[in-house]
Amino acid sequence: MTTTHANRRHDLIERREHLLDQLETRVLELQTTATWQRYLAVQSRFHHYSHRNVLLISMQRPEATSVAGFRTWEALGRYVLKGERGISILAPMIVRGRDEEEGRLTGFRWVNVFDVSQTDGAPLPSPVTLLRRDEPAELTSRLIRVASTLGFDVVLDKLPPGVNGECRWSTATIVVERANAPLQRAKTLAHELGHVLLHRTQTDRARAEIEAESVAYIVLAASGADAAAYSAGYVASWLGPNADVRGAIQQSCQAIQSASAAILDGLAAFRTPPAIRDDPEAWDRLPSA
Ligand SMILES: [Zn+2]
Repeated sequence: MTTTHANRRHDLIERREHLLDQLETRVLELQTTATWQRYLAVQSRFHHYSHRNVLLISMQRPEATSVAGFRTWEALGRYVLKGERGISILAPMIVRGRDEEEGRLTGFRWVNVFDVSQTDGAPLPSPVTLLRRDEPAELTSRLIRVASTLGFDVVLDKLPPGVNGECRWSTATIVVERANAPLQRAKTLAHELGHVLLHRTQTDRARAEIEAESVAYIVLAASGADAAAYSAGYVASWLGPNADVRGAIQQSCQAIQSASAAILDGLAAFRTPPAIRDDPEAWDRLPSA
């Protein structure tokens, strides 16, 4: 490796570290906003389900994101759509005597809950804002080529509300929501590529999401687009309300660095060569035939 090449590598690593610091700052800033407070207030209305119920929910509706009972949805200004079938989970039956502090568990009964995609009405406060701009430098088509070098096909399709992308390991396919703007689609694709590179065996969902989104943020920033309006909120929501932002991102720093480097190297290899007419000097470099 030549010295200049080594220097360039070092500069690139420093630049990516700087971008990761920037993302941390944006997450910390977001957590001081009223939007974040409203989001947390609503999140606290969603029940934390037991492992068994999480399993029951994922068996009946794998794409579920926010699940609540009929009345909770009503209290949040939303209603369950006509004809939607509930997701059955087991609710504990607690009996409490008059002078008892804590109740006694007497059994379980089946109750119905519904995913947000089965409801409509007032929008839930969200910490993320979909990116609406155009993409720089044919980013999506170049990311699709990076995906194919990793053995993954990319398809545009309609996904459930609130889902922007999906990485399907069994068919080696990345699905990107068709209705989103080009910049959002590029960001989603970079996020899913982060999963492809890092998470085949990862079981900690929150950590995987934080890593994939950080990768996407860096890839977009290095390509000249600011994804913070989406990425900061996404990372913050997976970190949860009381997390140590810096610590969580730093523990994944190595993984984030290596995956974003791999994607950016792939993108550089697929840079479309400049058209000859845009560069008058290129004529001089052409072999005269
Ligand atoms: Zn993800």
